[in-house]
Amino acid sequence: MRKLRTLLVTFVLMYICLLPVGAAEGDFVVSLEIGNPIMRVNGIETEIDPNRGTKPIVVDGRTLVPIRAIIEGLGGRVLWIEETETVVLILNDEQIQLNIDEKTALVNGKEKSLDVEPRVINERTMIPVRFVAEGLGLGVAWDDDSQTVFVVKNSFEHEEYERLMKAVPEYFGVARVEINGNKPFFEDYEIIGASFEYYGQLDGIGRCDVGFASVGKDIMPTTPRGSISSVTPTGWQSVVYRGVIDGDYLYNRCHLIAHQLTGENANKRNLITGTRYLNIEGMLPFENKVFDYIEKTGNHVMFRSTPVFSEGNLVADGVLLEGYSVEDKGEGICFCVYCYNVQPGVRVDYSTGDSTFVGTSFDVYRTPSGKRYHSNPDCGGRNSYGTSIEDAQNAGLTPCQKCVK
Ligand SMILES: [Zn+2]
Repeated sequence: MRKLRTLLVTFVLMYICLLPVGAAEGDFVVSLEIGNPIMRVNGIETEIDPNRGTKPIVVDGRTLVPIRAIIEGLGGRVLWIEETETVVLILNDEQIQLNIDEKTALVNGKEKSLDVEPRVINERTMIPVRFVAEGLGLGVAWDDDSQTVFVVKNSFEHEEYERLMKAVPEYFGVARVEINGNKPFFEDYEIIGASFEYYGQLDGIGRCDVGFASVGKDIMPTTPRGSISSVTPTGWQSVVYRGVIDGDYLYNRCHLIAHQLTGENANKRNLITGTRYLNIEGMLPFENKVFDYIEKTGNHVMFRSTPVFSEGNLVADGVLLEGYSVEDKGEGICFCVYCYNVQPGVRVDYSTGDSTFVGTSFDVYRTPSGKRYHSNPDCGGRNSYGTSIEDAQNAGLTPCQKCVK
């Protein structure tokens, strides 16, 4: 019987794969409250199951929802195979197959077990929402106070690229610039006071999309950072410019959402080819600020990190970083900055990741840990590297008494 079932499902899926998958672009937040037949899709109230009053329920500590509304709300598709009582959920490249009253499901072809089996109640298929959301690569948050589950999908559309880059000046010697008056672009319905993390799907040439999270203490890592060297982001090259760059290496595997915030290691949806300068001078100060704030307050911070690629390029031009503290409505954390994926002294070919040394025309020199900047690279010592005076001052360094006039 099982073999027949698998065969049948495989046949149906083969057929389905030939059909164009429906438009699934864009940003969605779907929220459902236990016992409430009304859900919200991007802030707009709508009946979960028109005229039938179907409500999300809790079974053994798991939230079960009528799944069709959510998946279709997110632009995906739901198929019901009557003979085998199989539900197939399709969203972009992800696929989940569940059977009624069975605790084993197929997530992208791999067997996974569920704590609570899918069931039919009042002729509606009720499925554990977290299992499905995570299997489909979606973000999922549970707010205990309001008994509400949030399902999140986010992406950066190419049309947004043109608009954003109009607001970004050419690199002029500072690691980052404020965009949109330093106000993040979050919609009201995207601001969620319960932790989740979401990493967008890689595009057709393997490039990362957004990293998006409501960072809370409960998802911060409790173990040290693991190895990330198994991931090869687009444009990656291992290349050294000794004496020019802090740490010598031009590129780092740069987390969209830092390990210290969500604990992600070798997640290929969260690592891009970033210059040392982008990593350390551009992004790190903001990641540290968010980390310190959450440690101190226990509040949540909405955090979105968007790598911005020009058409066809393998290396991002830069990263748009947005942050907003939820509970105090942005009083503690509120920023919207563009960090340049550049390296002073080196020219990067963004289409390939190739690079060339273009000479040291640095304003000043510093070391990774020193408190002063220098005019004379030898004065700072062995680990000196060049930087702009603005970056040195932004990093809180003061002029060396000996060599800076
Ligand atoms: Zn000096």
